[in-house]
Amino acid sequence: MRELIKIFDTTLRDGEQSPGATMNVAEKVRIAQQLEKLNVDVIEAGFPIASEGDFEAVKAIARMVQRPQVVALARTTRNDIKRAWEAVRFAKYPRLHTFIATSDIHLKYKLRKTRQEVLDDAIKAVAFAKSLCEDVEFSAEDATRSDIEFLSAVIEGTIQAGATTINIPDTVGYAIPSEFGDLIGTIRQRVKGIEKVTLSVHCHNDLGLAVANSISAIQNGVRQVECTINGIGERAGNTSLEEVVMAIRTRKDLLQFQTRVLPKHIFSTSRLVSKITGMVVQPNKAIVGTNAFAHESGIHQDGVLKEKLTYEIMTPESVGIPKTSLILGKLSGRHAFRERLKDLGYRLSEADLEVAFARFKQLADKKREIYDEDIESIVVEEILRMPRRFKLVYLNVVSGNVTVPTATVQIEVDGQLMQEAGFGDGPVDATFKTIKKITRTKSKLLQFSINAITSGTEAQGEVTVKLEERGHTVIGQGADTDVIVASAKAYINALNKMEFKKQKLVGM
Ligand SMILES: [Zn+2]
Repeated sequence: MRELIKIFDTTLRDGEQSPGATMNVAEKVRIAQQLEKLNVDVIEAGFPIASEGDFEAVKAIARMVQRPQVVALARTTRNDIKRAWEAVRFAKYPRLHTFIATSDIHLKYKLRKTRQEVLDDAIKAVAFAKSLCEDVEFSAEDATRSDIEFLSAVIEGTIQAGATTINIPDTVGYAIPSEFGDLIGTIRQRVKGIEKVTLSVHCHNDLGLAVANSISAIQNGVRQVECTINGIGERAGNTSLEEVVMAIRTRKDLLQFQTRVLPKHIFSTSRLVSKITGMVVQPNKAIVGTNAFAHESGIHQDGVLKEKLTYEIMTPESVGIPKTSLILGKLSGRHAFRERLKDLGYRLSEADLEVAFARFKQLADKKREIYDEDIESIVVEEILRMPRRFKLVYLNVVSGNVTVPTATVQIEVDGQLMQEAGFGDGPVDATFKTIKKITRTKSKLLQFSINAITSGTEAQGEVTVKLEERGHTVIGQGADTDVIVASAKAYINALNKMEFKKQKLVGM
């Protein structure tokens, strides 16, 4: 019998800490729903003390999710833990997750506390969390740069205080696989009571070793891996869920383990997270990149045509990459549309369905074939992106080789209709300058890119913009068959996210 490795997904917490990735409550709920379908064991839904939005998201997810455990993160203060519990308490299987740094670097410069103080804080926090919730996880932040004796004492103390899961994070992505495996082995040897708890790891990818470190940890006795979809997260990101899961599955000859994840939902989950966060997946990304199963060289193509096993260690179908996803057209009715939405995992209210269907009809007038990707982007744009401060109402752009590009824009700002016109170096520039004038915002445009959602010249263009304001970055997305309209939508989406982000108080 293969031992079970619990998959702890932190896309909604650590993943959201990716520079630019900010999600609202509806978007987080949608991702949580997809994670449940993917069959992860644990969903870390957020950090409730960080903002009202995080609190509401954790609460909504706790009430909705049925099978996975739902986790709320908290620092070691009573207020953090109370707030986390208020948000997560209605989950069927709630868990509180508290953390404090144990490395001397963090103690000295960040916490300004002695080792004894940190040990006391950790034990008190776990004991308090345990008084509220049966299931308590403790993380020793920056464990890989901590003194092993002190780290062991903290782990032992928190186990005695009632922790049921002990997490060893490589917070700064510093470890290499053999070293990290040894650390896990040492902890298992030294710490009294360690056999009573689930040992977990949380690896960052600063040296590109997060997945390798997680696998090494599993081989040394770890039974829970914290990870994110597409490996998103703080800085270079986290262990990528799809890579760990598929490594365990593909190399079952060497790794005597299993996970509960259903790989056929990996690709759609990856696409959804990318669409909602605006974090584009690089083409050569393992498992989910557009090139992950593409064979370019003639020799490889020839081999695959003769026998897939020559160059494919797993099939694209196994991770749910669709062969073709053509489904609807202009003549499709409301019923077919609703059914397709259901298949994609959306259950919309009647009012939301009307909004989405109207947009679908509009799109079908311009584009003959509507793909799953198009439908997904309609729902993300029209339904999930609410509520918003700024809303695009009207856009008219004149451009060409003999005119000065001019944009006329109407935007609803807090429900009030405003209009402006302006010039620019090109149609997109004119549009952005005019939007900026109306919204009186000061964000700087860092990045602008256009991608086709599906193939063909009538495909919808998906524009991604990255804005910066006083050190905050956000990523906005917009899709339309007209790339200037898509650009305006993306810019306004980013401005709305910026407003949302400004409400956040703390991050980890
Ligand atoms: Zn992290």
